[in-house]
Amino acid sequence: MIVRAGAATDVGRQRKHNEDSVLAEGSVFVVADGMGGHAAGEVASGIATTTLAELAGLERRRAEDVVEALQRANHRILESVASHPEQSGMGTTVAGLTVVTAGGSDHWAVFNVGDSRVYRCIDDRLNLVTVDHSEVRELIDGGFITEEEAARHPLRNVVTRSLGSETAPTPDVWVFPPHPGERFVICSDGLSNELAADDIRRLATGSDDPQQAAEALVAAAVQAGGRDNVSVIVVALDADEQEQDLDADTSPRTSAGAG
Ligand code: MN
Repeated sequence: MIVRAGAATDVGRQRKHNEDSVLAEGSVFVVADGMGGHAAGEVASGIATTTLAELAGLERRRAEDVVEALQRANHRILESVASHPEQSGMGTTVAGLTVVTAGGSDHWAVFNVGDSRVYRCIDDRLNLVTVDHSEVRELIDGGFITEEEAARHPLRNVVTRSLGSETAPTPDVWVFPPHPGERFVICSDGLSNELAADDIRRLATGSDDPQQAAEALVAAAVQAGGRDNVSVIVVALDADEQEQDLDADTSPRTSAGAG
């Protein structure tokens, strides 16, 4: 099985800075949506992706390694604020996908803190894997507002968990087996607030090339209004009888025993 990925990001039409950060390294895929004044948001999201990139250097990962990396990122954001008071209040969401070992075999681990999302697309159906950590999600789950009301709600941008919090936030992590032919969309809310789920599904699968799919998704969100920064990673798991490893590493391989 072979993993292919493409990533795209855009400042959008209304913001001056792009405070999102994107990581696609080895088999670690992360979107982080930073917040905080004086361009501190991009510092926070950058610390998150730089810290999570350390997961790509591990020979084998477990879900616990992902949780630890998220805690490390939270701590580093607080350290940065402590030495740069102008960064006070900065934070970031994070949503991502990586390969972990579970029960002796390769599994996906999907994780999030905040309202950035991971969708899974299989057999032309799109499912939202993550649950937003947001005030409107709480209000929907409590039965106070509907999904339609949430889309227009004044508190729709308020997240209930973020990295950069004094009390380290608990991430959600889902671990499940890979399925050949599936695709994932990892995105900031600048995508999910602009596009309907059916448009996300159509564009995510509209091109065989994940890079083209990611660029098409970002372009559509900007076209639809671009009211926020937009970031997308599309990850495709292809079926291939020759390859049994779930491995996105593009570096040249040396075959065992050669030389
Ligand atoms: Mn955003």
